[in-house]
Amino acid sequence: MAQSVVLKGPWGPAAPEPPSCSLTEVMSEQLATQLEEENQDYPPLTGPSADLLPSSSSSSSETTSDLMLAQMLQMQFDREFDDQLLREEKKFNGGSKVSISFENYRMVHPYADSDSSEDEVDWQDTRDDPYRAEKPQTTPRRGFTGKGKNITTKHDPVACGRKNTARMDNFAPGVQVGDGMGMDLKLSNQVFNALKQHCNSEQKRSARLHEKKEHSTSEQAVDPRTRLLMYKMVSAGVLENINGCISTGKESVVFHANGGSLEARPVPGEVVLKVYKTTLNEFKNRDRYIKDDYRFIDRFSKLNPRKVIRLWAEKEMHNLARMGSAGIPCPAVVLLKKHILVMSFIGSGLVPAPKLKDAALDRADLEEAFRQVLHVMQQLYQECNLVHADLSEYNMLWHEGKVWLIDVSQSVEPTHPHALEFLFRDCRNVSTIEAFEKRNEDHVQRRGKKCFPASCEDVGPPLQPDSDD
Ligand code: ADP
Ligand code: MG
Repeated sequence: MAQSVVLKGPWGPAAPEPPSCSLTEVMSEQLATQLEEENQDYPPLTGPSADLLPSSSSSSSETTSDLMLAQMLQMQFDREFDDQLLREEKKFNGGSKVSISFENYRMVHPYADSDSSEDEVDWQDTRDDPYRAEKPQTTPRRGFTGKGKNITTKHDPVACGRKNTARMDNFAPGVQVGDGMGMDLKLSNQVFNALKQHCNSEQKRSARLHEKKEHSTSEQAVDPRTRLLMYKMVSAGVLENINGCISTGKESVVFHANGGSLEARPVPGEVVLKVYKTTLNEFKNRDRYIKDDYRFIDRFSKLNPRKVIRLWAEKEMHNLARMGSAGIPCPAVVLLKKHILVMSFIGSGLVPAPKLKDAALDRADLEEAFRQVLHVMQQLYQECNLVHADLSEYNMLWHEGKVWLIDVSQSVEPTHPHALEFLFRDCRNVSTIEAFEKRNEDHVQRRGKKCFPASCEDVGPPLQPDSDD
């Protein structure tokens, strides 16, 4: 008898068959397999960067891949941040002469920011690296360790390599040694020596560059601090722009500039900036012009040499002011800022007035110039209570039919212990000006006598112009 047999297990009815998959699920699985097969047709990625890419076939656990992926994304993000920073830096600085660097805000150090595959490994943070560099084994004096087969000599490449890696620590600060120190890196002697040599030559090169830079700043007196001061004058509107250098002397550099306005007062259209050199060599020889000047005597002794230079600028300012109020043609002081003295420009249209030495004067002008020189010397002594102390045809300019006195930073009062000596020298300098001498010779020929006998022993008062001169 056929009986429908219901199959029953001892544990009750058999478990129901798993429900069949839906068509879409089957399709997607098939699609995935198909895609995987297609992928296998492409050549596998090679090169070290391929290791970093998260791949489904890689045996590495998922956590590691995620970490790498995160790190790569972070790297990408950081680079984009740096690019943005660079754009902002450019925008911020614009065409300005002084630029501000945003370098410190960069996320990726420029050394690390390279596309080479080696750097892909370099940027990884090795702080969490479980590897700790072992202290390099020191080889005992006898030159080997161990016994029998396990003997290790000091020439063992592994020991040597590790020692070399540790030695990179002694490279000059600022040398990028990468993560080598944190890894079990074995640097061969050849590589280590090449690195060391490169490091040394780089150091020498940078020292040379630095030296050159220092030298050039001292030559042109425009060290970064001075440049900043000049820039501040422009940005404060005192100056409109600084055009260029008129003269580079031993103690100062003179620049031409266009004036703006200072505290609502207009500054002359054309001005000069006399920048006193911040190198002290030349000023050392000139101490006596300032240290015995009672106006500066107590301050001089208390100041460091760098600040003494500011005194020179200040002294010139005071002397010019005195001369200006006595009506002596001289530059008018606009502003004194540390070792930079701004004063009016003698000349016009960017062309400075010629020095008396270079001025091509006709006979009448020569007569007039000579008369004026004697007059201003007298005024300087009697009305300003000053002795120029460096009066020569180089420190007098000829402009608009007048003799202008400049360069009075060394001028002293007659009470200065050497004042008469300086005055004598000034008189002698003036009396030996070639153009004036020629004029005298003509005079001699005409009159048969020399008007101004200039003997070396004669230290008299400033020469009086002859009535018929
Ligand atoms: P130094 O102490 O270096 O001799 P100076 O004051 O004599 O400095 O200036 C050097 C040169 O700069 C002068 O010979 C002159 O040609 C130029 N110079 C200085 N001051 C002025 C000025 N106010 N206007 C025009 N040129 C000037
Ligand atoms: Mg001079």
